[in-house]
Amino acid sequence: MQQQPTHSDHELVTTIDLHFKGLREHVAAFLVRSPEGPVLIECGPALCLPALEQGLDALGLSLTDIKRLFLTHIHLDHAGATGACTRAGATAYVHPRGAPHLVDPSRLMSSASRVFGEELDQHLGWLESSPENQIVAVEDGEVIQIGDMSFTAIETLGHASHHHAWLMTYEGERHVFSGDTAGMRLPGTSFVTLPLVAPELDPVKWQESIKRVGDLQADRLWLTHFGPVDDQEAFLRDASALLHTECALLRSLLDEATGLTAEEVMTQYRSWHLELAQQHQIDPDLLHTYCSDIHYESNIAGATRWLHRAGS
Ligand SMILES: [Zn+2]
Repeated sequence: MQQQPTHSDHELVTTIDLHFKGLREHVAAFLVRSPEGPVLIECGPALCLPALEQGLDALGLSLTDIKRLFLTHIHLDHAGATGACTRAGATAYVHPRGAPHLVDPSRLMSSASRVFGEELDQHLGWLESSPENQIVAVEDGEVIQIGDMSFTAIETLGHASHHHAWLMTYEGERHVFSGDTAGMRLPGTSFVTLPLVAPELDPVKWQESIKRVGDLQADRLWLTHFGPVDDQEAFLRDASALLHTECALLRSLLDEATGLTAEEVMTQYRSWHLELAQQHQIDPDLLHTYCSDIHYESNIAGATRWLHRAGS
């Protein structure tokens, strides 16, 4: 693993690159300097813990300095290292539907091992349990006050049924950490991609959530995948339009009447995405690096579950 390029993007917030799968700018954790010490937003996968610790070390910190951890949701690329963080002394703040799984991850991990297979052991790693008294369930709109800094939970469902964005306000500044609500961005571009994952994908709720994030009128939007967004209005508009288009495409490809095989669905979905990327002058190699087969397979699985639930 190379030395971390932790870049101080802002005097309050530093993005830590967790080098997920050895890739740059794929999965982030954010270090926020609160009036009562360093705070983490997201902690990444369990297997990225060494990268998280290196990133903290580059800032003169260690894991035991982190007393508060805000999680957008409990998917393993965001919250897999939570057990390590709480055992080192952090209290984790999370959506009420996510909280029980951090205390007892057994059900979450057995479904993760079914869904991810080898990917789990190779890249994500296993979430360890956290002491119950260090997991705080936070309702929509609830505020966690740290001196003059506040973190407000903004329930943002659609990607998952247990997702919060976090609005951080301090000295007149407003920052929103959107988790997966605003989608993901290919490094060095403004090209949005979407994790339409099973089992809780809900495009209607997701659209409402994108609007909610936009309505916060934050000074800056921070993506877990990956980093600060300069033109948040354009980015959210693109994410919303893509969510609409991509779900409509998957609905039509997965319609039984088309009679497509699973392989044909995959091929058509991938070539649609490649064409879209090329329209945006995206290097196909960059697209392939960040959107591997796993990305398309898991989006197809997510859409299949959604359409089944929607009864169509
Ligand atoms: Zn994610």
